[in-house]
Amino acid sequence: MCGEIKRARFLLGFIFIICSGVAGVHGQSGDSSKEPGAGEAYPNMPSISPIGVRIAKYFDVPPSSQGPAIDPARGYRLQDMGSGLYLITDNAIQSMFLVYDQGVVVIDAPQNLAAFIPKAIAGVTNKPITHLIYSHSHADHIGGAKTLGGNPIIIAQAETLRLLKRDADPNRPLPTVTFADKYTLRVGNQVLELSYHGNAHEPGNIFIYAPKQRVLMVVDIVFPGWMPWRRFAVAQDIKGYFAQVEEIRKMDWDIYVGGHVARTGTHADVDLQAEFDNDVKQAAATALAATKPGEGLNPLDKNNPWAFFDQYIDRVAAQCVNSLTPKWSTKLAGFDVYIWDQCYSMEQSLRIE
Ligand SMILES: [Zn+2]
Repeated sequence: MCGEIKRARFLLGFIFIICSGVAGVHGQSGDSSKEPGAGEAYPNMPSISPIGVRIAKYFDVPPSSQGPAIDPARGYRLQDMGSGLYLITDNAIQSMFLVYDQGVVVIDAPQNLAAFIPKAIAGVTNKPITHLIYSHSHADHIGGAKTLGGNPIIIAQAETLRLLKRDADPNRPLPTVTFADKYTLRVGNQVLELSYHGNAHEPGNIFIYAPKQRVLMVVDIVFPGWMPWRRFAVAQDIKGYFAQVEEIRKMDWDIYVGGHVARTGTHADVDLQAEFDNDVKQAAATALAATKPGEGLNPLDKNNPWAFFDQYIDRVAAQCVNSLTPKWSTKLAGFDVYIWDQCYSMEQSLRIE
């Protein structure tokens, strides 16, 4: 029987329509055997499309994952988080600014928000930007620093300076103040506590805490209401990533700013993300234990170790995706978009780290 998910898949020049049932899918692959390398679905293949397969329509975004609408005339949304701290977002990427008696501290200058930040500040105060804090080195979060203008003091963790020197990107000016573990910025009656908790997303990515406003910003770790970006937000250290989600959970704050998606987060969002992460870990571990390497491999590929592992890992990932789908497919937006990526990165981490 055909399930509700029907997808046309384009694989290596031929099309097969997959009708998903409860137990899996059945592919009709035409005359694929004549084309070297042409593929077909594994037994019990998940109904969610694997990486590299074009699909007709992704799952709908649940209402709980959508944030307040942006003003289409302005192109951004400003959220007052109290006592002079503001979130600015286009509902895809987020940064913040903090107003004090002499000026403004900007925290991240994303490429896509840089043109809006001065306008948003001007709507609140006429004070100048005196400081700019980099959460980490990635261009999507700080690539608008140059166009922000002025000559602010730029503060970042020492690893971010190292990476930005390497990258030599004129749009990401080098930090002028760096620190190793902790740095407290006191300006007027405002305070920001910056701290480094080691490598997870990338070296130099910091926690930014505003104690008066009880706001914690940690970029590219937790995505309120959403599946993490692919491969646990391309975490350079998966174990470090899991550890930082736990640290964020245990810290005392009221509003979480994750740097992406449409809204800020609550402790319930972080708890849900941690639960999901741990379920992926368990699902990948179970699939690794249950999957026999080499089973079903074409004997002609027996001298190709890359093929041996690719075929093994594909089967592990398929089981991992299958086991997570019933619980999670409607709980986090983007589940179908990135669940394969999460399972692939998790099995890799469990197998070799
Ligand atoms: Zn990043």
